[in-house]
Amino acid sequence: MSDFIPVNTPLLNGNEKKYLNECIDTGWISSEGPFVKKLEQEFSAYTGQKYGSCVCNGSVAIDAAVRAMKAVFKWEEGDEVILPDYTIISTAQSLLYNGLKPVFVDADAQTWNMDTAKIEEMITPRTRAVMVVHIFGLPTDMEKVFALAQKYDLKIIEDAAQAHGQTYFDKKCGSMGEISTFSFYANKHIACGEGGMVMAASSELIEKVNFYKNLCFSRDRFVHEELGWNFRMSNLQAAVAYAQFERLEEFIARKKRMGAYYQEELKNIPAQLPLVKTAYAENNYWVFGIVLDDDVKFNAKEAMEKLAQKGIGCRPFFYPLNKQPVFQKMGLTDTVDRPVADRLYARGFYIPSGLGLTDENMEQVVRMVRSIF
Ligand SMILES: *Cc1c(COP(=O)(O)O)cnc(C)c1O
Repeated sequence: MSDFIPVNTPLLNGNEKKYLNECIDTGWISSEGPFVKKLEQEFSAYTGQKYGSCVCNGSVAIDAAVRAMKAVFKWEEGDEVILPDYTIISTAQSLLYNGLKPVFVDADAQTWNMDTAKIEEMITPRTRAVMVVHIFGLPTDMEKVFALAQKYDLKIIEDAAQAHGQTYFDKKCGSMGEISTFSFYANKHIACGEGGMVMAASSELIEKVNFYKNLCFSRDRFVHEELGWNFRMSNLQAAVAYAQFERLEEFIARKKRMGAYYQEELKNIPAQLPLVKTAYAENNYWVFGIVLDDDVKFNAKEAMEKLAQKGIGCRPFFYPLNKQPVFQKMGLTDTVDRPVADRLYARGFYIPSGLGLTDENMEQVVRMVRSIF
């Protein structure tokens, strides 16, 4: 179908080609190249975090971050980290790969972020950290997280993959914890196809990340005390990401305009739309989610099928982590109900939200979304 509108279309019409050509003309194509360093320094300075380390995607960024936290703060096998139930598998999986136990907290029905009022009941003597994940364009309500971190001596890990440049009051997402992670996947605000970054407040943490992402090479090259993968980012990826970073503020403004347009045009459909703002942030609509009202006769899956037939690409919301078959097989079950996350999966999906959408595309999306009701 030639006029199909995909759920994501990146916008790559800045300096991407120019910088890629520079890599090829100079021969700097590996992770040793200058764009990697520039991106690390400038994106972390912009974010307000001291150190940055580029990696090859946002999932391994979390893995390296968790491993570094475990080593530096001397966490033990089976120690626990609290995180949202409503998020991507990369988060919980990184904890498990590193011998830690994920503990899932239900979502807030309005913001779709972790319901921070439900964190404290999940804290045990083995809890070491809270991993916050800013979802879909709104930051997590950090007030409770900061208070609990203080009260129980917990660390904060931030997954800011969907929140480049977003702020909680005046603090940038990715600057509020000991360590934070970003993804530069094709649908993120800064996109280079595949890519990611870890940021940390201490040199000790970032040195650990640099060690783990690089085969655990030590001072005597090719002599290894530990095992680690190659998670390095190439200068080619960094060149594209850097060109995107140059336009981040413009991209965020564009996402906000797109979100405002969808809000206005879809306000009468029988569904919950994203919050426009909270006390601590304005939505920057990384993606535009829709949660069908209970009296709508079809569910999210059926809605997406209807829209696909009309040439509109959509994506489901996350499947609750505590219900993931792989985690159930591993015996990671408990008796806690998480009704909000369950409902978000059953009733929620998101519509085309990429930076490359034209005004005509968006008008078409609106027409087709309205038409299914
Ligand atoms: C995209 C994303 C990731 C994973 O990033 P990849 O680069 O796709 O591996 C992790 N966490 C969140 C919240 C994401 O949105």
